[in-house]
Amino acid sequence: MGYLTDSLRALGTTLRNMRRPATTIPFPQQIREREERFRTSFALLHDENGEELCVACLACERICPSEVIKMKVAPKRESPFSGKRRGYLEDFTLDLTACIYCELCVQVCPTDAIVMTRVPEVPGFDREDLVLTMDKLYANEHAKPLTWATASKLNEMQEPPKVAKVEPAKTEPAKTEPAKSAPAKTEPAAAEPAKPAAVAEAVAQEAP
Ligand code: SF4
Ligand code: SF4
Repeated sequence: MGYLTDSLRALGTTLRNMRRPATTIPFPQQIREREERFRTSFALLHDENGEELCVACLACERICPSEVIKMKVAPKRESPFSGKRRGYLEDFTLDLTACIYCELCVQVCPTDAIVMTRVPEVPGFDREDLVLTMDKLYANEHAKPLTWATASKLNEMQEPPKVAKVEPAKTEPAKTEPAKSAPAKTEPAAAEPAKPAAVAEAVAQEAP
């Protein structure tokens, strides 16, 4: 009896949910609009002349915590565009199956040669399908929308804001007024006391 009740309750839940709009989509035939900051997969880029930006410096391979980047470096040669000797890649692979999407490989690139994309790779049936070869990485430059985040822009963002230097206020030396000397007090001359008239008369009589 309990089994029948539970089955009816489950059927009721199914019927109720049949009328609700679906919240899932058939992936990868349909791909939702990604957020601006969504990052997955990678691309290698060329400069405006069509030359490979990667100079095979190995920085991304060395920093990768999952050790999924492997590259072979070609001998240095002169660039047909700038005429300067520079490094070139012979081979470059990035194994997405163990990538943790930390983006450190992008951040350390001195030439902004590697960036992440905003569209994932198509799911594959073999592990090799998720290994990005050099050809796939260069094809992604035009095949997939790229994120704005190049190494230069990321590093610019992480720089602490420049604080305007505050010059210490110049304090004017206090003006010291010369001490005003107090006028010398001149004691009024003590006036001789007037002689009494009787004394004056006696003095006059004594006089020869
Ligand atoms: S995102 Fe991180 S784990 Fe993935 S390849 Fe780059 S450095 Fe390695
Ligand atoms: S860090 Fe940049 S330039 Fe150096 S090997 Fe990696 S992708 Fe190439």
